[in-house]
Amino acid sequence: MSQHILCLPGDGVGTEILREAVKVLDVVRERFQLAIEVTHGLVGGAAIDKEGTALSEATLKQACGADAVLFGAVGGPQWDHLPMDQRPEKGLLRLREGLVSFANLRPAILYPQLAQASSLKPEIVAGLDILIVRELTGGIYFGHPRGVKTLENGEREGFNTYVYSESEIRRIARVAFEAAQKRGGRLCSVDKSNVLEVTALWRDVVSEMARDYPDVELSHMYVDNAAMQLVRDPRQFDVIVTGNMFGDILSDCAAMLTGSIGMLPSASLNAEGKGLYEPVHGSAPDIAGQDKANPLAMILSLAMLLRYSLDEQAAADAIEKAVGGVLNQGLRTADIADDSGETVGTAAMGDAVAAALMT
Ligand code: NAD
Repeated sequence: MSQHILCLPGDGVGTEILREAVKVLDVVRERFQLAIEVTHGLVGGAAIDKEGTALSEATLKQACGADAVLFGAVGGPQWDHLPMDQRPEKGLLRLREGLVSFANLRPAILYPQLAQASSLKPEIVAGLDILIVRELTGGIYFGHPRGVKTLENGEREGFNTYVYSESEIRRIARVAFEAAQKRGGRLCSVDKSNVLEVTALWRDVVSEMARDYPDVELSHMYVDNAAMQLVRDPRQFDVIVTGNMFGDILSDCAAMLTGSIGMLPSASLNAEGKGLYEPVHGSAPDIAGQDKANPLAMILSLAMLLRYSLDEQAAADAIEKAVGGVLNQGLRTADIADDSGETVGTAAMGDAVAAALMT
């Protein structure tokens, strides 16, 4: 029986990089004789323009029925005038909610070939390999009440609600403990428990769970310190687990340690292991349509998809090896360019990975 991948390119560079990932998928399907059915749909601004909403019910249904969703990026200045709840980004939030993909796995690995591209000194980042596990469907991004109201004195006041239930904390912590067991055995839980009650509960629940994972060394860190430590001595971390907002910020910070946001894949998994796979970056309107975007984060997201949702380890390994191979050849997109390598465009980089997979 074939497995089903739904491709949702979205907007901006999303369409360009997803095209390259599909190129790579076609090669691995052939090479590893994978029975994978691929369909395509609209999301974000592209869906607003054609279907009047950032994520139609039909597309959501298709996504829920698929084994995995390969997602590009959404958003762009042409839709920024829309009310907040009608913007392209809502399509992604609805998709995450609909799939109940509560666990966001974001590896931050520094390829040795790119040590010079990091914003930190090579001796501080060489060999970096962090996994950030971010809670994705709760916390302040989803809490109610929320809004902007006008006070009696005429001043406007904005408000959001930061909320986590014990079960929400448990299920994300479980993913993180299990990930730590498969990696270096160290888990750092990040919170702001000295100020926010909700994260004091977070710390209590994670600490209680540590008893079930005696092989994992658990530590706790306040988010402000974690941000500092990530740029001071990032290799101290193995797995980091944190809530939605802190994870959003820390994972972008970790992204820069690796040289480029264009190198970072991510997976968002639900309880059944089905997932949404997407690069960490957005639709990059500043470089969209110019064949400048780095497709490697998207291609590495495909490798994660094959590994976590389709259980095709050999194909996933082959893609990651092919990416290492093209970096070894000196090929670089503009975002990771250095003096030694050859600067290529989005399509040429995708072609090179596909070619490396055929050899
Ligand atoms: P962004 O990630 O799109 O871009 C930030 C910077 O990184 C830009 O300079 C961009 O050129 C660069 N960059 C991003 N991806 C790159 C790639 N593959 N190769 C080379 N360089 C790359 O973030 P932004 O500029 O804050 O947001 C742009 C739009 O994307 C907004 O509409 C925002 O809402 C949306 N967005 C979407 C997602 C998503 O779909 N998951 C995430 C973040 C932002």
